[in-house]
Amino acid sequence: MNRYGGQQDSVPVDAGRVSNVPTSWTDESGSGGLDVQLRERQPHAPTPPEKKAQKETGSAHHDAILFLRGILSEAISKGSSDVHLEPHADMYRIRFRIDGVLTHYLERPLSEYTTMLNTVKVLADLDIATHMIPQDGHIELVLQEIDRRVQEHTRPPEDTASSPPSTVPAKSHYYDIRVSVFPSVNGEVVVMRILNRANALLSVEELGMDMVQLQQLQTMLLASYGMILITGPTGSGKTTTLYSVLSELKSSDKNIITLEDPIEFHLDWLRQCEINEERGFTFERAMSSVLRQDPDVLMVGEVRDPTTAEYAVRSALVGRIVGSTIHANTAIGTIARLLELGIPRSLLAHTINGIIAQRLVRMTCSHCQEQYEPEPLHLSHLGLENAPAPFLRGAGCDECGGTGFKGRTGLFSTLLFDETLRGLIFDQRPLIEIQEYAITQGMRTLKMHAAAKVLAGKTTVEEAVRVV
Ligand SMILES: [Zn+2]
Repeated sequence: MNRYGGQQDSVPVDAGRVSNVPTSWTDESGSGGLDVQLRERQPHAPTPPEKKAQKETGSAHHDAILFLRGILSEAISKGSSDVHLEPHADMYRIRFRIDGVLTHYLERPLSEYTTMLNTVKVLADLDIATHMIPQDGHIELVLQEIDRRVQEHTRPPEDTASSPPSTVPAKSHYYDIRVSVFPSVNGEVVVMRILNRANALLSVEELGMDMVQLQQLQTMLLASYGMILITGPTGSGKTTTLYSVLSELKSSDKNIITLEDPIEFHLDWLRQCEINEERGFTFERAMSSVLRQDPDVLMVGEVRDPTTAEYAVRSALVGRIVGSTIHANTAIGTIARLLELGIPRSLLAHTINGIIAQRLVRMTCSHCQEQYEPEPLHLSHLGLENAPAPFLRGAGCDECGGTGFKGRTGLFSTLLFDETLRGLIFDQRPLIEIQEYAITQGMRTLKMHAAAKVLAGKTTVEEAVRVV
């Protein structure tokens, strides 16, 4: 089961039910079987003149917390990754990002926005008096899943003296909500990223790779030193893959250090270090010293400029496994990108173990699959014009909120560096020739992997075309 889509594992989902939507500040009906605790931070102690005003705004603040609680709970039950609060000229809008796509959720009167904004700021420990510059913070959220059916069955009969407990122990789910507040012409926009600690980590088998890709990844990890690079655009799941790779390398005799900006998920078996450019703790500074911390495995959040590229390659050269992400379109294109960043060809050929290109596609909902006939143009884009029918899509049902999709899976293109491939790079052979050789060794392009997933009924032709 793929869990990219997020948090729907044991949370009751009823996306199509309109009555689930909180309709007013105090409406708690949106909690959908979940009890939400927001860990509230106290703002500064009130001075006497503030007390009267606070009494009046206090109940509005309390209502706003309940409302926010309903929204976050609803977002999580729908498997959202982000919640957007956006002020417009005459109202503010709440949108959820579900399986990578922004969807409208609710509109509310603009008059309520300031209270909502301040509530988010207080909970995230941000300055409520600051409006003109971006602020980042985070909220801890504990959701308690209550099985109402069990509760009802175990409700004690009124005439029994020694009654059984009326509630069963609730299962707690922990979420980090990363909050970004950003000034716009209509006011400050809030984006809350929902990070579920339990789902932060997928095993490499859960990423969505085929057997050959998994074997190639395992071969890359067997080397005693060298670099593994994950490439793709923002939001393509690179960091999740990198954590999965690190978890494969985890063992008690290895020192694994990460340099991240920011730290996406806190994992206690890693030594995670957060880059802080403002305070002078830059990637460059961190990488110039981190080898003295004696790492076996080093994760560098992103190779983004010639300096980090050079440090990363140098660390690999002196016997470390280095994992990192880099912005490029394809696995082969990453070679060109590294040359552009000033990495000498010979060094590149000898220090890289493999490159993995990645995208995420939405998966067809298994509850409402139906056969259909895709556009011939789309089929030929994937090289499927002669493929045997039928093709499958989701018709839309309650399980998938009418979208026809549920969860996401990865598309991959793995480029394993063997001696022949290293020789081709060293000899300055054209990239197309390197790609042709890699394909003979089992590499698939992203488009080939997308076509395979379409044929397996995992995703639709249109969704694959959208992504590759
Ligand atoms: Zn469905």
